[in-house]
Amino acid sequence: MKLEAGWAGLYENTPDHNALIGRAHTPRNFLYATGFSGHGFLQAPAVGELVTDLFLERDSFMDPHPFRADRFRDAEALSEIHII
Ligand SMILES: Cc1cc2nc3c(=O)[nH]c(=O)nc-3n(C[C@H](O)[C@H](O)[C@H](O)COP(=O)(O)OP(=O)(O)OC[C@H]3O[C@@H](n4cnc5c(N)ncnc54)[C@H](O)[C@@H]3O)c2cc1C
Repeated sequence: MKLEAGWAGLYENTPDHNALIGRAHTPRNFLYATGFSGHGFLQAPAVGELVTDLFLERDSFMDPHPFRADRFRDAEALSEIHII
């Protein structure tokens, strides 16, 4: 049969397959939530809560610190800690 249409998407993987969520120092106050490594839909409601709380600078239901982008400066952080 002739192919009528096609679609392809790429996983945006991080080295430990966990997301990057946090507030960057440069550019100052830049909030990021990306790198969901193929699990971004299922995490979306929780990530929305987390990013809202980061924006409002209030405590959230969980600590976003383990998801900070600069965790890869520490070699020990490369082991997968939130296996989904
Ligand atoms: C084949 C496949 C299957 C998947 N299956 C699942 C699954 O079963 N369950 C699950 O939880 N997750 C799944 N995922 C992962 C999920 O799709 C992603 O983690 C999620 O969509 C990421 O959301 P996002 O908002 O971070 O990025 P995206 O959905 O990629 O959104 C980023 C948006 O930014 C836009 N953009 C990019 N650059 C610019 C620019 N310079 N200016 C303006 N806009 C820009 C893009 O066009 C895009 O609309 C799958 C992914 C793929 C590829």
